[in-house]
Formats: sequence, C-alpha cells, structure tokens
Amino acid sequence: MSARRIHRLLATLAASAIALVGAPLAASPASAAGTLATTICYDVSQAGSFTSTAHSAASIWNNYTNNINMSNCGTNLRIYQIYGGGSYAVRTSLGNGRVYIDTYQAQQYSPLRIMTHEIGHILGLPDNYNGQCSLLMSGGSAGTSCTNPYPAATEAARVDQLFGGLTRTATPSGVFQGSWPAPVPVS
Ligand SMILES: [Zn+2]
Repeated sequence: MSARRIHRLLATLAASAIALVGAPLAASPASAAGTLATTICYDVSQAGSFTSTAHSAASIWNNYTNNINMSNCGTNLRIYQIYGGGSYAVRTSLGNGRVYIDTYQAQQYSPLRIMTHEIGHILGLPDNYNGQCSLLMSGGSAGTSCTNPYPAATEAARVDQLFGGLTRTATPSGVFQGSWPAPVPVS
C-alpha cells in the first residue's frame, strides 16, 4: 500500500474514531470524505470594539469552507484594534499571524469586509485589487460602497485547497509543513 493510501486509510479511521468519541478540540470532521478540518484558534483579547466583528468573520469563513475551523480558542491568529495606518495582516505561516484593523478605516469601509479580507490573508489568499465587489480579496479597490463580507467561491475553494486536511501533502506548497499543529493524533 502506498504512503498516500495509508494516509487516506488513517484519515478515514480517524474520522470514524471521532464520530464514535466526539470531536477533540484540534480536529473536526469535514464534509469532504477522508479529510479533517484544521482548527485555527484566534484571540480577540486585543480586538477592542472589533471583537464581535472578528467572531462574525470567523463564522463566515467556517461557513464557506470545509477544511478549516476557526475558533476562539488560542493564538494562532491574534486580532488587534489600531488607530490609523490602515488595516493589514501579517501571516507568519499558513493559518498563523496577526490581523490589525484600523478604526478610522473601518468608519469608511465595512468593518466586517475588512475583517474577513484580512483573515483571508492569514488563510493564504493574496490581494486582488481588481475592483470587483464580488471578490473579498479585492479589498478597498471595490470602494467604500462595497460591503460584501463573503469570499467568492473561487476564494473559498483556494483556502480549502491550501488546508487539505491530512491530504495537504498533495498540495504543491509545502511551506507550512512542520509549522502547523497536527490535525489529529493518529496512533
Ligand atoms: Zn489585503
């Protein structure tokens, strides 16, 4: 049996075990057969008035993807409220980093769109400043009237591709190998 087939088998067994004993914190069954969602713990202790916005953005990403599970459980992602300088994200590795939301910018643009956009960077998406409001990663280029906080299907699919559960070794980029918590202990 090839290593990949063994991986698949282990993933299936792990998913079955989870179904029997309940999902541990670090992993939950995803809809795609044989994959497990990667939990991304975020921290809102410094998010100030954007705390509820952060929770809403996390829910959106959870609803639009299969392979990630954002949860208010730790510090893979820290969210900060800042005053001036513009909103931005610092991704230290896939699923890890910091998001800064500029209070003044959030008075012009939709705070929720800013939040989901910046989290999109943490999830591996680049900017795409083409002005299309239907895209989340077009960011501010879509203008202040654009309040769409939802990722387009292509954007959500890219995140699912990057976080391929136990099959992520099949994705082209290995940049996050070893820097991410194991999705589930398999013994
Ligand atoms: Zn951006």
